[in-house]
Amino acid sequence: MGKIVNIVFELKTYDFLEPFHITDSISDMVTNIEVRVVLDNGAIGFGEASPSYRVNGERVEALIHLKDFVKDEISGMEVGNYKRLFDILDKLKSAPSIKSAVQYAVLDAFGEEIRVPVFKILGGAEDEIETDKTVGINTLDKMVKKATEIKREGFNVIKIKVGEDLREDIDKMIAISEATKGAEYIVDANMGYTPKEAVHFAKQVYSQGIDIAVFEQPTDWINIDLLKFVRFNCPYPVAADESVKTQYDAFNLIKNEAVDFINIKIMKSGISDTIAISEMAKSAGVGLMIGSMGESSIGINQSVHIAAGLGGFTYHDLDSHLLLKEDGFRGKFEQKGQRMILK
Ligand code: MN
Repeated sequence: MGKIVNIVFELKTYDFLEPFHITDSISDMVTNIEVRVVLDNGAIGFGEASPSYRVNGERVEALIHLKDFVKDEISGMEVGNYKRLFDILDKLKSAPSIKSAVQYAVLDAFGEEIRVPVFKILGGAEDEIETDKTVGINTLDKMVKKATEIKREGFNVIKIKVGEDLREDIDKMIAISEATKGAEYIVDANMGYTPKEAVHFAKQVYSQGIDIAVFEQPTDWINIDLLKFVRFNCPYPVAADESVKTQYDAFNLIKNEAVDFINIKIMKSGISDTIAISEMAKSAGVGLMIGSMGESSIGINQSVHIAAGLGGFTYHDLDSHLLLKEDGFRGKFEQKGQRMILK
């Protein structure tokens, strides 16, 4: 079985096709760390870390220096024993995106070695998934135009960013739904509302006969009682995103009956906690979605294989690579509009 002989970290910068605006944050580029795990038999596994300072407090400038530590920790180990590698990498608690990229690159190297794609190593629950596409915060007219384009491109699920202006958000939601009848909506406030604002938004939108499939992280991340208040006082399913990073966060949310959905992102949880959270949510009857940070196609590939392999994700918000400028597509799957097809 192939043993790890080298680890490579490489900085990669990507521009957004257009500035990406969410509550209290506008980005026009991302810097990711591409990770390669090299085996003694020549097989190479690819991973990508897309760190989030906003969510995880991670800085690329610090993460890049973890390479030698990671190399020392896992060199000489067999990728087939990936659980042992995962247990070691779980200690990188303050660098979840690096934990994720290295854990995935280990799986990918194993997959290359035995010529089995990662989604099959993890169970092969599905061989096709469908992503949504996101409308960032903008003027009402621009958001309606963007949502209409997304619907016309064939996407059935549209993710809408709100959270900076309650009254405008209600007007935007009504206008978007009129322009995109038949679409499903995930609405993400990125912690921008108080609990009462969140409930007001939901009730106003509901009174217009609009259905929202998931109302994502309306309130602050640290106090899950706020999410619970919204969950039990609004007509829509409520999801945690910023509030759930580790499997222990998920356990706490489930134990407190705080949410209907958990939005897993491998950049918050790594592969090991993603597997744990997905199984825990299934046991508890809590819905699952999977999201992304600023991954390019090689990075989104990770979540595509994880989600298809484990199965059970109701929504896939895996569109970050569709929002970035990239020289060429590098995923180990086929992208056809909203469809992501694995072989
Ligand atoms: Mn979110």
